[in-house]
Amino acid sequence: MKRHLGQNFLINTHITDCIISHLHIRANDFLFEIGPGEGALTGSIISNTECSFELTALEKDKELIPLLKKKFPQPNVEILYGDILKFDLNTYLRSSLRHGRVRILGNLPYYISSQILFKLLKSRRLIQDQFLMLQKEVVDRIIATPKNKEYGRLSVLIQLFYDVEKVIDVTPDNFKPIPNVHSSVIKMLPNDKYEKRVLDQNVLFEVIRRSFSMKRKMIKNCLNGFASEPELMSVGIDPTDRAEEVPISDFIKLANLIFRNKLN
Ligand code: SAM
Repeated sequence: MKRHLGQNFLINTHITDCIISHLHIRANDFLFEIGPGEGALTGSIISNTECSFELTALEKDKELIPLLKKKFPQPNVEILYGDILKFDLNTYLRSSLRHGRVRILGNLPYYISSQILFKLLKSRRLIQDQFLMLQKEVVDRIIATPKNKEYGRLSVLIQLFYDVEKVIDVTPDNFKPIPNVHSSVIKMLPNDKYEKRVLDQNVLFEVIRRSFSMKRKMIKNCLNGFASEPELMSVGIDPTDRAEEVPISDFIKLANLIFRNKLN
């Protein structure tokens, strides 16, 4: 087991089968798995799916490649050796997708999970949905809604681009070796409902960055010099609120107002 590659393999087929059942794989689906390891999730897909599908699995540990190829000789399964962070995902997907979009899955190596999320974000227009195992704490932050203590910059930045939903919590005893954190699987569906309303993404990102820069500070103080109290109030934000209380749509309204005022 290579700890530096974030290797904690799932050993409970009830869990892997449960995760796969949430994908509802349909005929002609194209699946892309990040970090198949010894093939726990891959195996559950193969044994639980009767319809035709295609699956590519990308693994960075060279030593696991022969084992995976031997385990999964099916013509609809392609095992690739590579690093997801260096892999040209867009080019690969554009040349492999015959119709529709790809479905991503993976029990991610946690040491690079944010980088993988960011990479997938850049390919979101080619992605139908993604089912990812992450640290439970990270999933709880991603799915959090305003007025909850986990709601923060990560929640806003991800929910700007995706509908998110927790699929299942997984306790450490379902992995080998046993990790010292709890895990959860999250379902993420790219959605441009917010994105469409954003006039300038850079202004929005700056509003979000500043708003969450000082924990427990009022938003008017976090945005001092960037957005005035009348501006905050005109989009329905109480200047004495904390960023943790502000919904995404209000951040967008504020950023659009700042952008328009800059132009005038
Ligand atoms: N899917 C398997 C399972 O659930 O048992 C393995 C999951 S394990 C948490 C993460 C896997 O990602 C490991 O097999 C590891 O070698 C692989 N990995 C680590 N870094 C990677 C990278 N940059 N690109 C692709 N795979 C990577």
